[in-house]
Amino acid sequence: MNWNLGSSRPLRCALPLILLAAPAAAQETPYAKINAAAATSPVTLHPLRNGVVMLEGSGGNMIALSGPEGIFMVDDGIAVSQDKIGAELRRIGPGPLRYVVNTHWHWDHADGNVWTHQAGAILIGSANTAKHLGETMRVVEWGHTFTPEPADGRIAMIVDGDRTMAFGDEQIRLRRYVPSHTDGDVSAFFRNANVLATGDTFWNGLYPFIDYVAGGSIDGMIAAANANIAMVDGGSIVVPGHGPVGDRAALIEYRDMLVAIRDNVAALKRQGKTLEQTIAAHPTAAFDAKWGQAIISPALFTTLVYRGV
Ligand SMILES: [Zn+2]
Repeated sequence: MNWNLGSSRPLRCALPLILLAAPAAAQETPYAKINAAAATSPVTLHPLRNGVVMLEGSGGNMIALSGPEGIFMVDDGIAVSQDKIGAELRRIGPGPLRYVVNTHWHWDHADGNVWTHQAGAILIGSANTAKHLGETMRVVEWGHTFTPEPADGRIAMIVDGDRTMAFGDEQIRLRRYVPSHTDGDVSAFFRNANVLATGDTFWNGLYPFIDYVAGGSIDGMIAAANANIAMVDGGSIVVPGHGPVGDRAALIEYRDMLVAIRDNVAALKRQGKTLEQTIAAHPTAAFDAKWGQAIISPALFTTLVYRGV
């Protein structure tokens, strides 16, 4: 196989500056805007450690590792980015795609399943992720109804506990979280490289989305954040679902933000405040400058927390 390495590009953050407010009857849905951003964004490769790289620029962050067997991926982005993702994978190694882990069912992490499977990958994920990929799911906040994934895009290897896969010199530990961002989130920890891919249980510098339709909750998000903190050490590289690469300290700051806002919103709800009154009280105010500038607005994050307390 002829792998063209292509030209290297400077690293930059291409996170689309889309702020999801409360759902509205807009002409263009958040789903459409995020797809459009992926269509125009470059896909950028960030080398991490021991050959593990992060790919960014197509919805959620992706991870890839080239080994003697081929390429192991975590998440495969939005399908419109296929050519750009494929070009970056060719830069890291000549082998075929062997495995793709879906950290969860959301299209900005798993929409590439059909092409990656057709390229040879075995798709891996939790039973609930497999279930959601096979059914019709309405996500109000994104203004979109997802229809069942074609057979080629379905998960073939279920991981519902704790499983370690050997891949070349690397040991990749896959673990199910408690229901948190969804009811099917899975992490991937590259043990030798000391790189943890958290999926959307961690958004670095951004308020996270919480998918209540698929079993997520704010308390689950806090539990998953604590699980992530327990999995890593001071030298770990932590790849969030969205935002730049982080570390253990960033995970702790994120967990503390979640806990503080949860407590603020719960106190207002206990006082009998409606959702509208709670949003008006700005329970996220101390955190908005850092966490509320892109994708999930302070009002939407308040709404998501209020629903779960
Ligand atoms: Zn997600």
